Amino acid sequence: MTVKKQGPEELLGLNKFSVDEEKAHIVIDKVICAKCQDKPCLVVCPAVLYTLKDGEINFDYAGCLECGTCRVMCKNKGITKWVYPRGTFGIAFRYG
Ligand code: SF4
Repeated sequence: MTVKKQGPEELLGLNKFSVDEEKAHIVIDKVICAKCQDKPCLVVCPAVLYTLKDGEINFDYAGCLECGTCRVMCKNKGITKWVYPRGTFGIAFRYG
């Protein structure tokens, strides 16, 4: 029997998300983020939800793994809100 190895993208793709379209559970302040020199969110988010375009941080909370890494690593308070999604929303982890 051959066991197929799965990469991170395939494994993350197994998870199911219920996105709360009405209430973001993470909110950033782009003015603060623009002044941030290090922008650790660009490298620490395992779901790669923070991106840089034309010098501006873009963020989409859909696909968040709720790990809290960005909240811990953001030293300039660019993340103005970080809470877990409301009940029934968010990630449902599924293991391959
Ligand atoms: S909580 Fe984790 S997965 Fe969600 S945006 Fe922050 S670093 Fe990315």
